[in-house]
Amino acid sequence: MQVNTLILGAGAAGMMCAAHAGPSVLVIDHAKAPGEKIRISGGGRCNFTNMHTDPARFLGQNPHFHKSALSRYTQWDFLGLVDRHKIAWHEKTLGQLFCDDKATQIVDMLRTEMAQAGVQLWLQTSLVDLSHDGVLFTAQLEREGKRHSVTARNLVLATGGKSIPKMGATGLAYDIARQFGHQVTDTRPALVPLTFSDQRFAPISGVATPVIAEANGTAFEEALLFTHRGLSGPAVLQISSYWAEGDSISLDLLPGHDLPARLKTTRQTHGKRNVTTALAEILPERLVEHLAADLPLSGNVGDLSDKRIDEITVRLRHWTLTPTGSEGYRTAEVTLGGISTDGIDSKTMMSRDVPGLFMIGEAVDVTGWLGGYNFQWAWSSAVAAGRAVTKRT
Ligand SMILES: Cc1cc2nc3c(=O)[nH]c(=O)nc-3n(C[C@H](O)[C@H](O)[C@H](O)COP(=O)(O)OP(=O)(O)OC[C@H]3O[C@@H](n4cnc5c(N)ncnc54)[C@H](O)[C@@H]3O)c2cc1C
Repeated sequence: MQVNTLILGAGAAGMMCAAHAGPSVLVIDHAKAPGEKIRISGGGRCNFTNMHTDPARFLGQNPHFHKSALSRYTQWDFLGLVDRHKIAWHEKTLGQLFCDDKATQIVDMLRTEMAQAGVQLWLQTSLVDLSHDGVLFTAQLEREGKRHSVTARNLVLATGGKSIPKMGATGLAYDIARQFGHQVTDTRPALVPLTFSDQRFAPISGVATPVIAEANGTAFEEALLFTHRGLSGPAVLQISSYWAEGDSISLDLLPGHDLPARLKTTRQTHGKRNVTTALAEILPERLVEHLAADLPLSGNVGDLSDKRIDEITVRLRHWTLTPTGSEGYRTAEVTLGGISTDGIDSKTMMSRDVPGLFMIGEAVDVTGWLGGYNFQWAWSSAVAAGRAVTKRT
């Protein structure tokens, strides 16, 4: 069988690329259904983009690489597509756009776009062998127990990263990229909860509070959630992308609060109030109990000196912790690192050395913040490749 373009991976990037890649496109995936991560994303409502998409909200060894694709297919372009398909959406917070109804609407939208473009989709299909004669790629595929040899002028790697292996994530794109001489940067789980081997937060698991969380100089003001194994919530997922094993993180438990002024007023008006009771007015009670022994927080507010008030404030504003690890690829929303952008043309997503080889989506060393940025990268990089494929045709 001969096609113009063979796309490996029917996830967000692969399907979007297929819809833009012109005639004669075959997309294969080893899963039973396409777009499984879209289906489970955003708590089942898919945070499909972010209104504040900006290159500064992405990580990667080359901080400029993703600018071109993001500017040529923007969040507004994707929103236009969502609107054309009459999918109702809303902004939840911080520019994050979600489906009103369910994430599968985005999968259905992409399937419709692919069908309109005449794309063939082969599910439960795996790649057995891949070769290249300098012009054409030949893939040996296995589908329903049968072998198929497919020849293609363009090959698009869209098999994503390593996060959630239970959902079928593999390192296939990295292996193929290496096969063609591309470098792959170190990868690690990102947007992932951080863990403590002593499970010190198990007694307060379920407690949530707003914080400013900071790791290696980057800070996010969002919610923190204590879990049996450690720390989670958007603030911690965000800083996990900036954290590496052995690093400390810092938590400011008092965003927007002037604790010294508050305690000094309480000292005059309600001097007999316990320090813990006064703190529980602005922090969750169970968290205050947890902190009480360590700080310590015994006694009445009336007995606190200015110096002691300052000490307590500093401790609560700079709570320094050293997580032992993260929950790993098992729960990570994305993979940090991937196919090095050095060997890829940023306008077309095509290999600089192997004409016709394209790399898109999470497999590439571009990782977004939490909040719809990773899907936007999938859409933008996919459209860049799709358009370039059409021009080569
Ligand atoms: C639980 C969860 C929630 C998320 N929520 C959001 C969100 O709300 N907003 C957001 O922006 N991002 C979210 N993300 C991240 C987002 O899902 C990914 O960044 C995005 O799916 C990447 O798109 P992709 O097409 O590159 O890879 P994927 O969507 O992972 O697609 C890769 C495809 O390749 C297939 N594949 C893999 N290996 C092989 C192989 N060897 N052979 C054949 N096929 C293969 C897979 O089955 C899959 O269909 C979430 C991730 C997770 C895990």
